Amino acid sequence: MSQLRIPGPTPLPPQVLQSMSKQMINHRGSEYHTMLRSITENLKTLYQTQNDLFVLTGSGTGGLEAAVVNMLSPGDAVLGVSIGVFGDRIAAIARAFGAKVVPLNFEMGKAADPEAVRKALKANPDIKAVMITHNETSTGITNDLEALSKVVREFDKLLIADCVSSLGSLKCPVDEWGLDVAISGSQKGWMAPPGLAFVSVSKKGWEFYKNAKMARFYWDFGSAKKYLEKDENPWTPAVTSIYALSAGLDILMKEGLPNIVARHARVGKACREGIKSLGLKQVADEKYASNTVTAVWLPQGIEYKAISKGMRDEKDITITGGQGALDGKIFRIGHLGWVDEKDIKECIDTLRIVLSKLGFKK
Ligand SMILES: *Cc1c(COP(=O)(O)O)cnc(C)c1O
Repeated sequence: MSQLRIPGPTPLPPQVLQSMSKQMINHRGSEYHTMLRSITENLKTLYQTQNDLFVLTGSGTGGLEAAVVNMLSPGDAVLGVSIGVFGDRIAAIARAFGAKVVPLNFEMGKAADPEAVRKALKANPDIKAVMITHNETSTGITNDLEALSKVVREFDKLLIADCVSSLGSLKCPVDEWGLDVAISGSQKGWMAPPGLAFVSVSKKGWEFYKNAKMARFYWDFGSAKKYLEKDENPWTPAVTSIYALSAGLDILMKEGLPNIVARHARVGKACREGIKSLGLKQVADEKYASNTVTAVWLPQGIEYKAISKGMRDEKDITITGGQGALDGKIFRIGHLGWVDEKDIKECIDTLRIVLSKLGFKK
């Protein structure tokens, strides 16, 4: 069977696939109301939050843009903590809408250092908000968001957290960690197809919203809140993706958050041990290695294209390459959503065959 082993979109369980062949319904009717209410409740349970939570139609990047334009004004100073492509992306979004981004970049493969964040906030007292990626999908690193958020709260700043590839897979208790705006996306750990972004907004987030002057219309959280009171969205939602999300959440809720987190911990570990056993080296510092995606340095003299083609020819497994500065230097294996240890074992076993055919010796 073909296997998509990339960090989103992920393979979907049969129940989720079936849910998408249903007839359209009125998105302002009672059937939709019931479905959106239950989806929102389930998402809040898995976010571990009492904050407002909105399901927006768009990909994860849309969720990042929504967070920026609803919280900030042009000219606002904001700390953009980046350990890779996605940290750079939210900084670019904020810059595009006129924020004054103070960049705090860390070396590829390293996690963000809370002490450096403290220093930056001390040195720049005009900073209003901090943007941090929880799980950096481009390098396979999970930041210590709990420690980072403590520093942000010490200085009483707003925290915008890109949790697109962590929420619903990794430990990320939104309220306990004080994440003011936490963003995720349906095609990552949620056993759902692409098309939806989720954002939670804290009380402090709403205070920022009141003063935020960046241009926005489609993403306006005020409209989203007004319509959610009627269990609706302001605009026509991606109804098919909503069906699928509902089915995916049913599966996740049945499994339960502790089991979901434990399963990702097992598959993450299995992937890293497998990579090591092949004689390959992961990009991430082991202490911060992600349980949803593993980035691996390409062995000397072997190109990404040869490995990815080999994986496809051998077992119809799709992996992915590096982004940005890591293009042509690494490959990545996604292990989030509907995945178990058997899938990872198959992936590693296939990789062993492919590498040996390409003449790699450990
Ligand atoms: C996938 C991802 C995004 C959003 O990407 P989209 O392609 O817009 O869904 C943002 N941040 C992280 C960390 C991601 O993994």
